[in-house]
Amino acid sequence: MTPLGRIIAARIAAQGPMSLAQYMADCLMHPVHGYYTTRDPLGRAGDFITAPEISQMFGELLGLALAQAWLDQGAPAPFTLAELGPGRGTLMVDALRACARMPGFVAAARLHLVETSPVLRAAQRARLPGAVWHDSVASLPEAPLFLIANEFLDALPIRQFIRDGAGWRERMVGLANGALAFGLAPATPVAALANRHDDTRDGDLVELCPALPAITAQIGARIARHGGAAIIVDYGDWESLGDTLQALQGGARADPLAAPGAADLTAHVDFAAIARAAAPVRHSRLTPQGVFLERLGITQRAQALAAGLGADARASHVAAHRRLTHPEEMGQLFKVIGLTPHAAAPIPGLDT
Ligand code: SAH
Repeated sequence: MTPLGRIIAARIAAQGPMSLAQYMADCLMHPVHGYYTTRDPLGRAGDFITAPEISQMFGELLGLALAQAWLDQGAPAPFTLAELGPGRGTLMVDALRACARMPGFVAAARLHLVETSPVLRAAQRARLPGAVWHDSVASLPEAPLFLIANEFLDALPIRQFIRDGAGWRERMVGLANGALAFGLAPATPVAALANRHDDTRDGDLVELCPALPAITAQIGARIARHGGAAIIVDYGDWESLGDTLQALQGGARADPLAAPGAADLTAHVDFAAIARAAAPVRHSRLTPQGVFLERLGITQRAQALAAGLGADARASHVAAHRRLTHPEEMGQLFKVIGLTPHAAAPIPGLDT
């Protein structure tokens, strides 16, 4: 067992089983042993690779879409340019480079990054000097807010419930023969799942992300008050159904209970929960990443970049374009939702 596994097992032995959300929070963010506390998991040598690490085109196009939304809303200055969970800072570096061509945008931007990992904050500081860091969205300034989040919400802890008549049995992490094991709490009503009685049956598993509504509401409130736009990209679907908890270690699937703190844990994002919590702003239609990037002109950008490359670099560039957009790769599993004030133009690539 990992050191964190022993800590968690001792706590369960003393206090009883814990919710999956508590377990995930410990695994990812424990102050000493948490997965994100102790490492940079991104990139080819890490446990997983994300869209901005695959190609510069991703950050360039997202940045330009945000800059166009800023222009469409009258180019407010100054404004907050924010990213949630910026990883190595690659997306924002690519976005800022592309947006340097949009007159006034970079000069008016005040860069605010929401990041809890000390290791990744250090990586971001090296590439994005002058940014201001936050532990949560709650402390983002009261100002026009133009925000990007890629693969942030999937890292937030979730709870899982199995339908049992009019109630729900929560999936808990407990102990069996000294090892961590899943179990089920007795059935109780769950107010936050009242809306799921009509579209689920006995035995169905649904997931709830307790932190998501407040995070979305904070973003929505700023955009409603001051103007702005949010582009949120992640894997998931309109409404949660089924067990999507996933552990990755060294690029391979792992047992989520096997190596606490040493494996990444994620779950699919429930975009309907974002749409519900985002009121009073307007949410776009949920759009597959591949469709979104094609609408923003990724093919033209890919061709322009390819012209300057040698044969090997061109082959990996073509593979990166395919990986971001093809339905069998990231193009369909990953989805994009945009948030804007009701009166504002839609974000390029996203219709309402
Ligand atoms: N957006 C980046 C990194 C994705 S990994 C990319 O696309 O490459 C998830 C990121 O969210 C990491 O930077 C991680 O440290 C951060 N993160 C995870 N949970 C967080 C939380 N609760 N609060 C703030 N940041 C968090």
